[in-house]
Amino acid sequence: MSDLNLEHWWQPFTNVRAFREQPRIFSRAAGSFLYRDDGQDVLDITAGLWCCNLGHGRREIADAVQQQLMELDYAPPFQFGTAPAFRFAERLVKHCPDGIGRVFFTNSGSEAVDTALKIAYSYQHARGKAEKRRFISRQQGYHGVNVGGTSLQGLPNNRQGFPVLAEVDFLPGLLDIERNAFSRGCPKFGTQEMLKSFEEIVAVRGADKICAVIIEPISGAGGMLPPPIDYLKTIRELCDKHDILLIFDEVITGFGRTGSAFAANEFGVTPDMITAAKAINGGTVPMGAVLLKDSIQQVIFDHASTSAPEFFHGNTYAGSPVAAAAGLAALDIYESEQLFTCGSGAKGQYWADTLHAMSDLPQVIDIRNYGLLGAVSFDHAELPEKTLGPKIHQRCLDNGLLCRAVGDHMVMSPPLSITEQEIDLFAERFRRSVKQVL
Ligand code: PLP
Repeated sequence: MSDLNLEHWWQPFTNVRAFREQPRIFSRAAGSFLYRDDGQDVLDITAGLWCCNLGHGRREIADAVQQQLMELDYAPPFQFGTAPAFRFAERLVKHCPDGIGRVFFTNSGSEAVDTALKIAYSYQHARGKAEKRRFISRQQGYHGVNVGGTSLQGLPNNRQGFPVLAEVDFLPGLLDIERNAFSRGCPKFGTQEMLKSFEEIVAVRGADKICAVIIEPISGAGGMLPPPIDYLKTIRELCDKHDILLIFDEVITGFGRTGSAFAANEFGVTPDMITAAKAINGGTVPMGAVLLKDSIQQVIFDHASTSAPEFFHGNTYAGSPVAAAAGLAALDIYESEQLFTCGSGAKGQYWADTLHAMSDLPQVIDIRNYGLLGAVSFDHAELPEKTLGPKIHQRCLDNGLLCRAVGDHMVMSPPLSITEQEIDLFAERFRRSVKQVL
């Protein structure tokens, strides 16, 4: 597409000057494949950015969006409502753990995170515990790019140079290749370190000052790191013990990624709130959500005046009827094709076996999997750290495979609709690419 002027769109998280030298333009997509402008197919083993869980180009979603656009494209959500948003909220909570029955829609994961923080503050304030203002997050965690989420970031590059909330403490990150290498599913080590660190933070700050803990059940942008055995149960117990809210950031782990609708269901741990986005409607129309316990909403309502909004917060496009219509159509597919659970069945097993068979590749120091997530970590050997991953990433792309490099960890999250044949194709293209680089 030589006619494209590349100067005006400043792309997010992109080395724009390098991009202009070597543009990578996708022009269409179908099923598990993206297609470059020169026609080359690229197997999308990232499901877009963890969002196209149903694969690309689902006709049912396109039809639902088109119909909704012509029937009711938009109506203000402040003091008004539309049927698709109410219907979608009702159906969404049926997939959540018991007790989580309320939905606050946003447009993105970042907005969902900052909304959850404000709900948490409001809840503590409403119950007369306004002193509980601090947050606990985790190193290597990623919680979007708004000011709240940036403050909770455990990834240094995403915080550096930006003003952040000072009232955040960090639990240790989950990357522990020395002790946990080549675990299948949940690794063995890490829960005790988390527990010790949690108690230390509480001892220093005081439980009466801590509002909430927010963590990704599986650390995604930090390198695809499943929680160690009993980690999430322990964190729930600690939050209960110290009267602290627990928020699961499920922007990546939601909608079938782990082998259940949400990681909360998968690990049998009910947080007080779940933040979701991305695959909420198959990655088609921007949308996010905070899914919360009815009891949290009730406390805020009980404290609020009956003549004003109970929560002074919200976005113009929150619960957009078009995004909700896409969500309803996506839920139909998730349910009818049983995609929420396929990661814990035969497909998940095939995926895990395929990934772990990569251990014979050069310089592999760890392989991790959970549901339909995976990561292969490389020793950068004589190269500077974090330069091998980008090299492998580029070679994969040249060979028709889109995966993600997080430093020297190659991270994968295929569409849940991927076939075994396509998983084989992934293995063939990945192996070939790694061997060409190393
Ligand atoms: N939280 C997590 C765990 C994420 O992985 C992301 C995005 O990758 C976000 C929040 C932010 O979502 P968005 O990019 O939709 O703002």
